Amino acid sequence: MSPTRRSFLGAGAAMMGGAAAAAVTPATAAGASTPLTATVDVAVVGAGLAGLTAARSLVAAGKSVIILEARNRVGGRTLNHAIGGGHVAEAGGEFIGPTQDRIAALANAVGVNTFDAYDTGNNIYVNGAIRLSYSDSGLVGGLTGTAPPDPLLLPDLVLLSQQLDSDAAKLDPAAPWTYAQASAWDSVTVETWTRQHALNATYVLPVLAAATRALWGCEPRDVSYLYAAAYVASAGNATTTGTFERLLNVRNGAQQSRFVGGSQLVSQRVAAALGAAVKLNAPVRSISQTSSGVTVVADGYVVNARRVVVAIPPALTGRIAYDPILPADRDLITQRVPMGALMKVEAVYPTPFWRANNLTGQFLTTGEPVGYAFDNSPPDASLGVLAGFVGGDADRTYGAMTPAQRREAVLTQYASVFKDDRFLSPSDYFDFNWVDEPWTRGGPTGLFAPGTLTEYGPALRAPVGRIHWAGTETSDYWQGYMDGAVRSGERATHEVLAAL
Ligand SMILES: Cc1cc2nc3c(=O)[nH]c(=O)nc-3n(C[C@H](O)[C@H](O)[C@H](O)COP(=O)(O)OP(=O)(O)OC[C@H]3O[C@@H](n4cnc5c(N)ncnc54)[C@H](O)[C@@H]3O)c2cc1C
Repeated sequence: MSPTRRSFLGAGAAMMGGAAAAAVTPATAAGASTPLTATVDVAVVGAGLAGLTAARSLVAAGKSVIILEARNRVGGRTLNHAIGGGHVAEAGGEFIGPTQDRIAALANAVGVNTFDAYDTGNNIYVNGAIRLSYSDSGLVGGLTGTAPPDPLLLPDLVLLSQQLDSDAAKLDPAAPWTYAQASAWDSVTVETWTRQHALNATYVLPVLAAATRALWGCEPRDVSYLYAAAYVASAGNATTTGTFERLLNVRNGAQQSRFVGGSQLVSQRVAAALGAAVKLNAPVRSISQTSSGVTVVADGYVVNARRVVVAIPPALTGRIAYDPILPADRDLITQRVPMGALMKVEAVYPTPFWRANNLTGQFLTTGEPVGYAFDNSPPDASLGVLAGFVGGDADRTYGAMTPAQRREAVLTQYASVFKDDRFLSPSDYFDFNWVDEPWTRGGPTGLFAPGTLTEYGPALRAPVGRIHWAGTETSDYWQGYMDGAVRSGERATHEVLAAL
């Protein structure tokens, strides 16, 4: 969709309905490539959940808004993929769970319902020659949740997760760098910390890597221990302390529920209500500010505003040109918070046939390409979908293969893990590698290596003049998640309203 004068004028008209009118003026020079200009209260960069939340709440507060989105769609790291029969399977973010109150409230407000992720039966765990089939609600599983009851692993699981939870509870999720031990914890990677604290680190690390690949799209060596503890602290809300288990579990955890119609539907509904204020195919290239205002230049548009909310991952904020240039600490954030490397692979079958064998479809393995898989079938189970995460080193290895090679590797692994050759013959298969997406360049979230949180954490969301920062990475609670994205959009709105 190329920007036209008509669609741009529509934005002003749409906003006049409930909010202050935007003064929209077409540029003076003629020609198809002439950018269109608008004057609004607030420009928002990025129509993911963070940017859309900010735009929605600012419009509700009576402000005029233009939201500029680089892609030809909204939703950012949430993306519905059609699998036939009117059903979708998500290629990006999809699960929500307890304490993720803000995404739940937003979905509810736009009429998107949730349903329970399929979690009936046994999970499978494969670690070299060990293969366990276990229930996450049985005698042992009731204690360990989604974590596998491998006797060689359990002592360390208990030891490490208790330590992590107790360390996380000492942190302020909004400012983990303020804790007295922050510098020491930020000096080691998760791998080093595990080697220092585990009873049997050699055995634990490959299992931990399967978890970090799914959780962050990275290896345990890539992130600092302070970041891991802060992430756990973030997995709660103002009244409920975050725990490692809540991050990992399906039942009572972050993977408990899914959205009917797919997670992207939330963004699509919010965008539909915002109407022509949402501009697609409009990558923002530069932001310049003076004492009286800010000018945001995107392909096809020049937006003059009083404030701008930049709601994109930290690394991508470094691909915008700023005048004046960003302060050193904020620019170094753009250089030091890389995205994880994550791909989602999904095999579609006529039915979720594994359910009849009392299997949830979930597996955790130290093998490759997939480290963690789950049942991603539609709510009516009219199709069976088995989705898996390929992250970190596995993303680098399998992302470099041809699609046919990758498909074969995934299906062969599924058949081997489940000991069932029916997994070899899906009716459909797709995969989606977020590192190849120009307007995300990785996933699920931006990562903090040693030193980053303590050296530059305070600059993460501190406004720079008229620029306010949103995006899930800037959230106190549920950073890295859809809920964190919504919270960050709400926080940026409060900042802007206080400043206008
Ligand atoms: C494979 C995968 C699985 C995940 N699983 C889950 C899950 O189960 N549950 C969960 O809660 N979360 C999950 N997440 C994370 C979740 O999707 C994200 O935390 C959330 O969607 C981020 O929203 P956001 O608005 O902060 O950023 P984004 O969604 O990245 O939105 C930013 C937007 O800005 C646009 N943009 C970028 N640069 C520019 C520019 N220069 N100009 C204009 N626009 C620009 C982008 O196109 C994008 O639309 C997953 C993510 C991935 C990738």
